[in-house]
Formats: sequence, C-alpha cells, structure tokens
Amino acid sequence: MARRGRHAGAAPPPATPWESHLAGRRLGGAAGVMPERYPNPMDTASLERFKALLLEQREEIIGNAAITVNDLLAQAESFPDPADRATLETDRSFTLRLRERERHLLNKIDSALERIANGTFGICEHCGEEISIARLEARPVSTLCITCKTAQEEMESVGRG
Ligand SMILES: [Zn+2]
Repeated sequence: MARRGRHAGAAPPPATPWESHLAGRRLGGAAGVMPERYPNPMDTASLERFKALLLEQREEIIGNAAITVNDLLAQAESFPDPADRATLETDRSFTLRLRERERHLLNKIDSALERIANGTFGICEHCGEEISIARLEARPVSTLCITCKTAQEEMESVGRG
C-alpha cells in the first residue's frame, strides 16, 4: 500500500468516525470492541436524531429571519411620520441585535452539524469527556459538559464581579 508509514501496523479503522474517535481515545486503536463500562452514548440513531433536531432549529431560525425582514419592509411603508420612523429605527436596531444572536446561534448549529459529520459530536471540547445525552437534548449545540460549563460560568461571574 502506498500510504504505509504513518499508519504502519495500526489496526484497520473502525466503521464510523465516532467509533474511531472513541477507539483512539480509550482503546489505543483497538477496533470494534467497546468495553461494558464505556457504553457508546451516541449510536447512529442518536446522531441522526440530533442532526434532525439541529436542522429543524436551523430552518426555524432562517424562517424567522425571513419574517423579520418582511416585517421591517412592511413597517417602513406604514410609518410616513418622522417620529414614527424614529420608533421604527429603534425597532430596527432591536431586530438587528436579535438577528445578531440568531446568526450566532446559526454558527453554533453549523458547527454542531460539523461535529456530527466528523464524529466529535457530544464530546466536551474542554475535558474530552462525553456530554450527557440529557444536556444535548436540551441544547444540542453544547460544546462543554456540565462540569466544564459550570466552571466556565463561575469564572465568568468572578470576572464580572
Ligand atoms: Zn468537560
């Protein structure tokens, strides 16, 4: 094989990137065996479910954004008075801030979808432990386990105080 060298002697890669990730992290590359005490929390069905959930949220945000723009256009036409226009400007900046947040969330959703694709979804990016399914179900874009998230929030609140 032409690609011997880097992978020389390594076991053949497991079936999915997720398994590959877990195998590399915990089993030193041994393929196909999952020890009982490390149940894979993210089987293909769960990944598909989270993917559907994320895509749904994505659609929703994009749908809302479209409505927002249409609302603005409609409002602009119905406020000929300058004072009313000032109100409209305030509304507009509120809407833009809202859209900023939506854009931010869209980015998070996109990177969560990316993590599903590359097999690192559900892994805490700080400590490398699994993020609980319950947490992911509440917030599929989570990148930190609850322990790291709590620690981060404590740090932030100390920084603010
Ligand atoms: Zn963590």
